[in-house]
Amino acid sequence: ASFKDMKLPKFVINSLKEKGIIKPSPIQMQGLPALFIGRDLIGIAYTGSGKTLAFSLPIFMFCLEQECAIPFGREEGPFGLIICPSRELARQTALFIRDFSNAGVRKGFPEVRVLACIGGESIKNQIETIKRGVHIVVATPGRLIDMLDKKIINLNICRYLCFDEADRMIDMGFEEEVRNIISYFKAQRQTLLFSATMPKKIQNFAKSALVKPVTVNV
Ligand code: AMP
Repeated sequence: ASFKDMKLPKFVINSLKEKGIIKPSPIQMQGLPALFIGRDLIGIAYTGSGKTLAFSLPIFMFCLEQECAIPFGREEGPFGLIICPSRELARQTALFIRDFSNAGVRKGFPEVRVLACIGGESIKNQIETIKRGVHIVVATPGRLIDMLDKKIINLNICRYLCFDEADRMIDMGFEEEVRNIISYFKAQRQTLLFSATMPKKIQNFAKSALVKPVTVNV
């Protein structure tokens, strides 16, 4: 399958081209079609495999489609949540998605608003961004739980949950936090888990958090 076969808007194809992304990598080739039809997914993949695009594109496309029907500034968002073990990774992933959004805005598509919800930065600015309405939150567990507990963010309509570098997250002792975050979900959701390794602990976690996942090992 090519990106064209995936029926992506032209601006997405062009934006990919600008990044030197012409042909889907194996994780994208195998993962994206399953994700576009709503399946849960376990991706056993390292940094450099193209996993960021594989999990970002489906939620970006979903948000783009929603905006046709739903006005901005809603207080119920986000639609998608991506959880990362480090601030740097969360920041980079948010930028990656924002880049697509900017490319779309230049072509007259609605903006997809992305927030990096991470510690070590002003919570005040993050709260203001949330109040204006966000569609996708890329977060580290600590700051996110803080915001969920304080009801600054709610996951009432969140329907897409992705764990990036799940093995690192568990190694860092975030398992309880992650389970706490999951308990805030209300709507039916699509869940993705990316991990470079699959120790028993991650397998068990995946079993409890994902439903009939497709597994892609690259
Ligand atoms: P990741 O594995 O998500 O950390 O991606 C690593 C790097 O590969 C990023 O700089 C991407 O822009 C790039 N990349 C992702 N997908 C592709 C692709 N299909 N072809 C070429 N480069 C890619």
